[in-house]
Amino acid sequence: ILESLTEGVLAVDAARTVLLANGRLKEMFDLRAPAVGRSLHETFRAPEVRAAVEAALGGEASVRPITLDVRGADGRYTPKHFDLAAAPLAAAAATPGAVLVFHDVTALRRLETVRREFVANVSHELRTPLTLVRGHLETLLDEGALDDRALVESSLGVMHKHSLRLGALVDDLLTISRLEHGRGGLEPGRVLLGEAAARVLERLEPALREKGADGEVDIAPAGLAVRADPHRLDQVLFNLLDNALRHGVAGTAPRVRIEARREEDWVRLTVADNGPGIPASDQAHVWERFYRVHKDRSRDAGGTGLGLSIVKHIALAHGGRAGLESELGHGARFHVWLPAAEEAEVRNET
Ligand code: ADP
Repeated sequence: ILESLTEGVLAVDAARTVLLANGRLKEMFDLRAPAVGRSLHETFRAPEVRAAVEAALGGEASVRPITLDVRGADGRYTPKHFDLAAAPLAAAAATPGAVLVFHDVTALRRLETVRREFVANVSHELRTPLTLVRGHLETLLDEGALDDRALVESSLGVMHKHSLRLGALVDDLLTISRLEHGRGGLEPGRVLLGEAAARVLERLEPALREKGADGEVDIAPAGLAVRADPHRLDQVLFNLLDNALRHGVAGTAPRVRIEARREEDWVRLTVADNGPGIPASDQAHVWERFYRVHKDRSRDAGGTGLGLSIVKHIALAHGGRAGLESELGHGARFHVWLPAAEEAEVRNET
């Protein structure tokens, strides 16, 4: 039973000699030498562990959170968090002593930190537009303000813009939450990439025109299709193209390009631009929620900071993945791999 536990178990006698160490404990602390028969202090030098043992030998059971630097298989030490339970050995035991149970809660702690940071980020992102809307409302409520038509119009304009931003943020948060909880409600079907690309380019036509950017499509073979939820696929293309237009257009001849190629059972979908690119040190992070390369500049460019996180989640929800290639000054190429639609399906439908 002890060998099957996911917790590390250690028992010592009153002389602080180790009576038992289960396999999980040896794994947890990368114990190479046998611990049984040796002094506890040879194996555990941490004062927190000793304190728990002393308390238990004194008849007091306890559970305490502790942090220990633990040697990994690569020989490096990293801090790990445990809930350490210590209790006197039962009166019926052959010898007086203490039993310790180490429960590794490192992953749990990490999740808690991520959640806390997420809540702090969301609050911050929501507060900015809310503060602006409230400021303008207060201006309009001032005596006589409503008689100033120019002021009313500009305030309403700002309030409208920021209420749209709030709406986009809430929509993106709901999308992420659904995708993260595996309730993406995906309804995969066969989607022709040429049609999806055309739909999204049409939606972004005003932005393309505004930026004076060329939108190119290069799908080979032309009838290439994926097995994906059509709505989510459009969202992937939209987010990547929208990013390319907001962050990736610079210079005299801005260009955005949708490419698709078959790679065995997969289709690699690429959205490329010829803009400033993304520094290597930021590339792994752009998929994180609210991560922006240039904090203020990127936020001013509009967008919720969640676009790429949504792209990644949609790719994962389809069993695929997302990737990025970029060299500073030479544009960015964002890739998403989605399952290719089977040929058989093509024949069935035609
Ligand atoms: P945002 O709403 O800020 O666009 P995203 O999650 O879509 O959030 O993107 C994260 C960050 O990655 C952006 O803020 C921007 O700094 C960077 N980024 C995304 N796409 C590009 C691109 N095509 N070229 C350069 N930087 C980009």
